[in-house]
Formats: sequence, structure tokens, C-alpha cells
Amino acid sequence: MRVLILSDIHANLAALEAVLDDAQELGFEETWCLGDIVGYGPDPNECIDRLRQLPGKLLAVAGNHDWAALGRLSIEDFNPEARRAVEWTREKLTPRHRVWLEELADQPIELGRYTITHGSPRYPIWEYILTPSIAQSNFEHFSTPYCLVGHTHVPIIYRLAEDQGSDRRCRALLPVQDRFIELKGAHRLILNPGSVGQPRDSDPRASYAILDTDQDLWLYRRLPYPIELTQAKMREAGLPERLIARLSYGW
Ligand code: ZN
Repeated sequence: MRVLILSDIHANLAALEAVLDDAQELGFEETWCLGDIVGYGPDPNECIDRLRQLPGKLLAVAGNHDWAALGRLSIEDFNPEARRAVEWTREKLTPRHRVWLEELADQPIELGRYTITHGSPRYPIWEYILTPSIAQSNFEHFSTPYCLVGHTHVPIIYRLAEDQGSDRRCRALLPVQDRFIELKGAHRLILNPGSVGQPRDSDPRASYAILDTDQDLWLYRRLPYPIELTQAKMREAGLPERLIARLSYGW
């Protein structure tokens, strides 16, 4: 089965539409969404609607921004711009869309050989897997061969290699774009598809992945989208200028 893997859409409808157009050409039967559907961007309700209209089953976990929009966590630690975006999102969400967000899973979901979560299997909502050592300590917190995470907005693959007679070592691999990568082998992996709506790896293009669960293949994609369209809506909504500007640079 081919699965569409989306993470960190952040209410950016233009980016989501570009990704869906591309994914529909490639074909997929299910969608797994790794959280942060809302927050930062101008179209929280529209992005939720668009996800719900997708063909096939949709499985989704909650992210920290989804929880912040629901008032489930304190936003004191957020920087002032992020806090402003959360407050705006809270006002903008309709009751119906709030209910949908409230039903998102707050624990990792196991799907065959895959576990899906937002931050990390250890701390699903909050932990950023930013280094091989953080990744390494997370491998004992899930039991499937593969775990899919989002939250950092950076596409990457962490591989836990069992070196002969020595300690386990974890390495970070940069995913190759536009080519199916074989996951099968002796290694367990943590995979991040990058962010649809607010990439932070200095590449402003929308990022996502297609997973083939029959053959354990991972296809990582980057796509241009009309960034200025999202930025114009953000400006109209009075969202902070720094959040508008960052989309142009992918940080
Ligand atoms: Zn996020």
C-alpha cells in the first residue's frame, strides 16, 4: 500500500494543495499525518477540511501547535510571534474544527512495521529529534522497525546500526530526493518527511514523503508552491511579519 506522509502543515493551504496535486499523480491509498496541522499559517479550518476530503483512511496524531490552539498547553514558553499566531488560530478555529483536533491521538500509533508520532516516541508532543544521540536514545521507546516523526521541520533519516561486537551507533542520513529509497535491512530507522507548510532547512519548498508499506520504500519529495499567496493571507490576517518572512527562506 502507498501511504501519503504529511507533517507540520501549519495551516498553509497553498503548500498543502501543491503537495496533494503531486501526491495524487504518484498515487496513494492512505494518509498518515504527523501533527501540527494548524498554527502559524492563515488557513487552519481549510487545511483540516482538505485533509478530511482525502480519499482513503486518514490517521493523524496531535502536535504541540494543535494542542496550543486547543488551549491544552501553556504558551508561556512560545516566542512572542508564535504566541500571537496561537491566539489568532484559537479565534479562527470553528467549533467543528476544534472538535476534530481534540480527537487527534496524543500517543504514538503503531501501524504494522511503522510507528507514527509528532515529536518523538519518548515524548510525543514535545521532544525534538535534532541529533543522532537524541535519536539513539529514542529507539528503545518504540518496538517497530521504523518510526516516523515530524516537529523539527527538517527532512532526515536516523539509522541505528548494530556494529559487530560493539555498541549500537546512530547515524543521520540526508534523504535522497525523488527516488524510492529501500528501508529494508538490518537497521532500524527514524524518518522525518520534513514540513509541508513551514520548512526550516533553508529550502522554502514544501516537503513530504510517500511510503510503500509492501516493499518498505520511502520517496522524499520537495515542491515549489505559491509562497506569496500564503504570505498575502497572513498579512491580511495581521499575523507577525517575522513568520511571514521566514516562509521565503525556509527557516
Ligand atoms: Zn511544527
